[in-house]
This record gives sequence, structure tokens and C-alpha cells, in this order.
Amino acid sequence: FLEVREVVKRFGANEVLRGINLSVEEHQVVCLIGPSGCGKSTLLRCINGLEEIQSGEIRLHGDRISGPGVDLNALRREVGIVFQSFNLFPHMTVLQNITLAPTQVLRVPEEEARERAMALLRRIGLEHKAQAYPDQLSGGQQQRVAIVRALAMEPMLLLLDEITSALDPELVSEVLNLLRELAEEGMTMLLATHEMGFAKEVADKVCFLYGGVVHEEGPPEEIFKNPKSERTQQFLRSII
Ligand code: ATP
Ligand code: MG
Repeated sequence: FLEVREVVKRFGANEVLRGINLSVEEHQVVCLIGPSGCGKSTLLRCINGLEEIQSGEIRLHGDRISGPGVDLNALRREVGIVFQSFNLFPHMTVLQNITLAPTQVLRVPEEEARERAMALLRRIGLEHKAQAYPDQLSGGQQQRVAIVRALAMEPMLLLLDEITSALDPELVSEVLNLLRELAEEGMTMLLATHEMGFAKEVADKVCFLYGGVVHEEGPPEEIFKNPKSERTQQFLRSII
């Protein structure tokens, strides 16, 4: 479904990704783990076309989504991304934040976009915040709005970059619960996360990024209980 092949990404002389190979099947949840600076965010940004890659190839549903000639607007309709810092538009209401892309990019009629947005807000229990501005919401509420804003585009694939790391601990679970629900519904997701508990429970596959490559990958039971590589063991020891 998503195929990342031999992807190389450099920032000047700094070769961050040195031949990444990774695949995500439809309806799978894949977690990227690894030390700070190993390139998790960079990889997600490359998949979404926010960064150009130097070599290698990324395919979604068989279509090449990296390199010259890729329609970035089409790509971003198919692939949603949510970042660590909730980047809701501060001057727009919650409802406007969610309807903006569907009306502007997909040309969904205003009324229909509003109804769909309200349905999404209902599902996360935030209907009553439709007319509120982002700064009137808690961090957890903002992050859930950011997720449903991405869902409003009905993406094929959702990329999530450390979306709970800026949250107060008591707000983390409400965001993870939403992800858990989406996983159960079959949403295909690739997420960079420090939430090992969540990765253990929800991921179909965990990929440990180290040295610019996927150093080790496998089902969470294997990676967490029986990591093969010394590096993976070291990393897992360092975070608990
Ligand atoms: P963290 O766990 O801290 O979020 P990460 O795994 O997401 O780390 P990245 O943010 O992808 O790591 O960064 C990987 C490397 O790429 C780092 O060395 C970083 O300095 C470098 N890098 C990232 N973005 C840029 C950029 N726009 N320009 C130059 N270097 C960058
Ligand atoms: Mg990062």
C-alpha cells in the first residue's frame, strides 16, 4: 500500500535518511521509533511531499509519490499529516478549521462540509466547541480537532508525528483513544511515537530507525520483548 524504497534524504552534508525501506499495508498501523534526531519526522515529511528526497522512491497504491512530476496537491489529498504542535489556524473557529480544506481543495459544498465537520466533532464529543477558537480549547481537544481536520479530507493514509508529546500527561489518553478507534475502523496509519505502551498495544509493526535506516522491524511483541539487535536493546533500555 505504502512502499518506501531506498529513500535517501540529505540536508546539505547531513545524510539523515540513508536508504530507508519500509512498507505499510492497507489498514495497518505502523509505529516509527528511534532516538531523537534519527529522522522520524523527516521520513514522514518526505512521504507527504513536504521534503524532497535525493534518491529512492515512495509509492502509494502503486503510484509514485516522490520525485519530479508528482502532483503535490493530489498527494496531500490522499495523505493526511498531523504534527506535534497542533497547528490549527488560530484565527478560525474549530468548524472553519475543519471545513477549510474540504471546501477549498475538494470543492465540497459549504453546507455538506459543515455537516460532515459536525459529525466528526460529535464523534470526538466536541460539537459544543464548533464556534470556539483553538486557544479556547485544551491541548488534547486541539489535537483531536487537528486529527479530525485531517480525517475530513478522507485520506487513504494518515501520518502522525509525535502527536501526544506536547500534551500534558492527563490529556494524552484522550488522543490515544481516538487513534485506537481509528485503528479499529481500519484507518491506515504511520506514526512516529514515544508512546511505547500504545505502540505495543495497537501497532501491527514497529520500525526502529537508527543510522538512517530501518535498523530493525517486526511485530511489537518481538521488538519490545525480543529485540535482535544490540542497538534496539540499548534504545529500549534508555527510554524506560
Ligand atoms: P525527534 O524524535 O527529536 O522528533 P526525529 O527522529 O523526528 O527527532 P528529525 O526531525 O527528522 O528527527 O531530524 C533528523 C535530522 O535531520 C536531524 O539531524 C535534524 O537536525 C535534521 N533536520 C531536520 N530538518 C531539517 C531541516 N529543515 N534542515 C536541516 N536539517 C534538518
Ligand atoms: Mg520528530
